[in-house]
Amino acid sequence: MSLSKPQKKRKVDLECRAFKAEWSENYFVTELDGKALCLLCSDTIAVLKEYNIRRHYQTKHSAQYSQLTGKERSQKLETLKRSISLQRSFFTKMKNENKAASKVSLRVAHLLAKEGKPFTDGELIKSCLIVAVEEMCPEKMDLFNNISLSARTVARRVEDIGSNITNQLINKANDFEWFSLALDESTDITDTAQLLLFIRGVNADFEVTEELASMNSLRGTTTGEDIFKEVEEMLTKYNLKWNQLKCVTTDGGKNMSGTEPVVSTVNFIRSRGLNHRQFRDFLSEVEAEYPDLPYHTAVRWLSSGKVLLRFFELRAEI
Ligand SMILES: [Zn+2]
Repeated sequence: MSLSKPQKKRKVDLECRAFKAEWSENYFVTELDGKALCLLCSDTIAVLKEYNIRRHYQTKHSAQYSQLTGKERSQKLETLKRSISLQRSFFTKMKNENKAASKVSLRVAHLLAKEGKPFTDGELIKSCLIVAVEEMCPEKMDLFNNISLSARTVARRVEDIGSNITNQLINKANDFEWFSLALDESTDITDTAQLLLFIRGVNADFEVTEELASMNSLRGTTTGEDIFKEVEEMLTKYNLKWNQLKCVTTDGGKNMSGTEPVVSTVNFIRSRGLNHRQFRDFLSEVEAEYPDLPYHTAVRWLSSGKVLLRFFELRAEI
């Protein structure tokens, strides 16, 4: 097989791919997304070749339209073009409206999840929306009826949001140089133990990410081994290595119990009324960036990150 043959073929194809203006009036077609659209029957002719377009016109429409010539033919073409563009803008508008309805249900699901409301509340919210529309803009009822806020939809949306956040965190965790973990255990209303794993990671640019990495129900026992397994699973999920782990903070553990210099300094400043007043006066006198240092307590141990950050920012004054 010679090389020149396929090259020649490609050249011919390229030549034929351009839509020629005269086709519009000859065959009542218009160009749409690289194809020819028949304005008479809305069929598309996939190949932009005059032969294909002419064949479509001759077999389907020429009997009815070939007698139209000159000005009549141009007018017919204009009418057809106008109606197709109206149709197209209607479909685009419909697509946007559906998009808006999906966005509403996603945002409402987000609000419900953030407020810790039951997913079934979505149905009540929909009823409220309908009441408002009935009173204020009944002509838009169809639009609002499209919003899906059933418990199943809300649950699915919240799952989508959750997996989106997880994926974002997996992406960021890829760049972590080091990370530390905070573990907290609490019991929900059914007395099931929930293990919360918070992660704080830092990348090469010293950007810090702090996020709830996982929340898992511990069924049965809550021994050290059970907790270790959960942590190990979480590290696998985020593709993190044990040797990147810098610090683990646990509820009631020794990490922040007052032996570290930061904690004892903060406690020295904050635990005595006089010290604290003097410190605040001093900060305002030197016009420090922050008016105060947050208190560190065992109960609010999750705020330790904020305490450390503020301590670092006020280190000169301290
Ligand atoms: Zn046609």
